[in-house]
Amino acid sequence: MAEETILESTDRTSGREALRKNVQAAIALAGAVRTTLGPKGLDKLLIDDEGRTLVTNDGVTVLETAKVEHPVARMVINASSTQDRVARDGTTSTVVICAEMLRNAWQLVRQGIHPATIARGFAQSESFALKLLDEMTITATTEQMYSAVETSLSGKMERRVQARLSKLALEASERITTEQRTDPTRVKIIRQNGGSAVDAELVIGLAIPKTRVHSEMLECGGPGSILLVDGGLEKRSPMLGAKLSITSTGMLDAFRAAEVKAVMKQVENLKSIGCDILVVKEGIDDEARQALADAGILAYRRVENTDLELLARACNTSLIHDIGRATKEDLGVFISTREELKGGTNYWILTSEDDAATLIARGSSTEVLGEVERCFGDALGVACQLQEDPQLLPGGGATQVALARAVRRHAETIPGREQMAMEAWADGLEVIPRALAQNAGLDPIESLLKLTAAQSEGGVMIGLDLDTGTPSDTVSRGVLEPVKITRQAISGATEAAISILRIDDVLWAQMDAQVPDDIQQQLAGMGPE
Ligand code: ADP
Ligand code: MG
Repeated sequence: MAEETILESTDRTSGREALRKNVQAAIALAGAVRTTLGPKGLDKLLIDDEGRTLVTNDGVTVLETAKVEHPVARMVINASSTQDRVARDGTTSTVVICAEMLRNAWQLVRQGIHPATIARGFAQSESFALKLLDEMTITATTEQMYSAVETSLSGKMERRVQARLSKLALEASERITTEQRTDPTRVKIIRQNGGSAVDAELVIGLAIPKTRVHSEMLECGGPGSILLVDGGLEKRSPMLGAKLSITSTGMLDAFRAAEVKAVMKQVENLKSIGCDILVVKEGIDDEARQALADAGILAYRRVENTDLELLARACNTSLIHDIGRATKEDLGVFISTREELKGGTNYWILTSEDDAATLIARGSSTEVLGEVERCFGDALGVACQLQEDPQLLPGGGATQVALARAVRRHAETIPGREQMAMEAWADGLEVIPRALAQNAGLDPIESLLKLTAAQSEGGVMIGLDLDTGTPSDTVSRGVLEPVKITRQAISGATEAAISILRIDDVLWAQMDAQVPDDIQQQLAGMGPE
């Protein structure tokens, strides 16, 4: 059956037929991303309804952008989205492994083995394999952490860009780690049009594309205190003033004078509470700028909400509304302030106790900037995970082959039909080295056999070298991955496969394709188990 038509079937199907269609849907879906797997994977060009294009090598991006309505395909996509949320990487692997396990399960069903038995065998294999994973991990050195971040980006962008973004992501993650806890949202990303993607830059502190409101203000300084205002430092316009009936020009002048005085009073207050930097969301009047400069207060205006929030967090304070009533308690603290010209844009850079960092992404087009931002985000996610848990596993198919071999040996000790299911599960995992080899233009079966043989001689750290096609030590080549990614990919794929095996009656057209969880609930207990 052609893959396109599989995703469109809307008949009521039951039992074995339902499973066959579900397995085919998962295989069709995996087929859409399998060719992107690994450093030699291909890019996909995606086009949305409005004709906008996106070139990506990222499995989850491909799947989330495609409008897939098939409920089972959605279950697999959801597993991949969970993978993205939890581990930031391994999304393609999840889909490809899940589909391969289902393909193998289908072969067993055809031989008369009940899907429930297969599901049990899969669950047993999963828990056995996950325990083994812990014995295989190595604790990362800083150098290896860098390698792992770079491995997670491999194939996504040009090599030099990958290397640059990996280095910056690791630096940023170090900066934002406190007591083993990291928070990637502390890294701000600015997209600066122009330049090349390799010119991406990491600024320690918060960078905001702003220039101080008066050139006489001192641009460098600190430490000191900062006031953040959800408003401005401006005279009220007489036109907006409450019910003002102007009968002479003298009155207007008097009004203006009073307004200026009110503004000056606010500056006086800032001075008296010891404010060094004033940041406002709205404007600052000319008179006020001069007065602020005279009072030795550095000021920035028209600062965006998102930046104000970041400043508030960085300086451990909150926004106020009325400058005239501000007190010492409203002030936040900063360590240093300066301005710097970067790529033609002037940045105000503030550092504080609360470690923040800013990535200035560069690129010649919105597409490139988008890809840089996505890749950096993924790299940062992986780097942050490593700061919290620096445990690594070998990549290049090594972990999957090692687990598959161990599960097969373990399966021999299981007398029931689950034994066959466990072998099917192990074969399913090996889709990773096969697909990696295939995408690199190597013979997939030969590569897998060579790798298996090499591991039985030289141990579990041996994986595929996709440049030469020969198995080699992943540790010395730096092809390493955080344990969380591999673990989550294996368990996410297995669990999605088990859910699909448990569905045996589906009424496509009448179900909400967007809510696969509901389908699972509705169908629970309907089967012959
Ligand atoms: P995913 O979305 O699953 O992360 P990727 O396209 O990022 O898919 O590919 C990840 C796979 O590529 C992993 O199995 C990883 O071990 C492998 N890989 C990455 N870099 C290399 C490399 N230099 N040599 C061999 N395998 C690699
Ligand atoms: Mg990846």
